[in-house]
Amino acid sequence: MFSEQKKQIIEYGILLDRYELVSLTCGNLAIRMPTGEILITPTGLMYDQMVEDDVIVMDLDGNIIEGDRKPSSDTPSILYIFKHMPNINGVIHTHQPYATAISLIPGMDEFRVCFTGMANTCCGNVPITPYSSAGSVDMGVDVVNNVGTARAVILSHHGVMTIGPGLKDALYAAVYLEETAKGYLAARACCPDGNMKQMTDEQIDTMVEVFKYYGQGTPVIPTELVDKKK
Ligand SMILES: [Zn+2]
Repeated sequence: MFSEQKKQIIEYGILLDRYELVSLTCGNLAIRMPTGEILITPTGLMYDQMVEDDVIVMDLDGNIIEGDRKPSSDTPSILYIFKHMPNINGVIHTHQPYATAISLIPGMDEFRVCFTGMANTCCGNVPITPYSSAGSVDMGVDVVNNVGTARAVILSHHGVMTIGPGLKDALYAAVYLEETAKGYLAARACCPDGNMKQMTDEQIDTMVEVFKYYGQGTPVIPTELVDKKK
């Protein structure tokens, strides 16, 4: 059942490892099928050793439809997100260290977009939620209550949850959030007072819009959207 999507989950899990967003067996990935079933990674297995049969199929209440493995320990929070966000069909949880490090900076309850790639893929500023326990439903509650129109939330002292209409959107958000966090922290190390150059709200909004024209199968970016200097 759902062989293609199970392959995608495993392939993207390996990508999470390649981009250093997870170590060993941590993190998880989940897809909601158009017919409502939830596909979710098993707990405690290495992504590069996972096979299709290891991916669990369940309903929205957590009743297992297919699979013998124990599902991710974060299943309660993932199901909570799917239940409360009907347009979200892909969820990824990582322990990506640079984005998570930003949650340690006193006074920050939001990671403001500072690179265009973050605006493109996270669709705006990323909220930083107060601490919640791993394995709790609270992680999902924090995502639903704080994410707004963004596609990522930083969980203090823990990791990141990314969401999207599909799993690919959640993957892009996680990868580019980490790339931006690396750049931000490097710049911040050079600006001990935390006073750094910022993108304007208009620049951020434009970059969110521009990504709708990215990739194959979309129209060319309208010049009036991006050309401001002639
Ligand atoms: Zn975790």
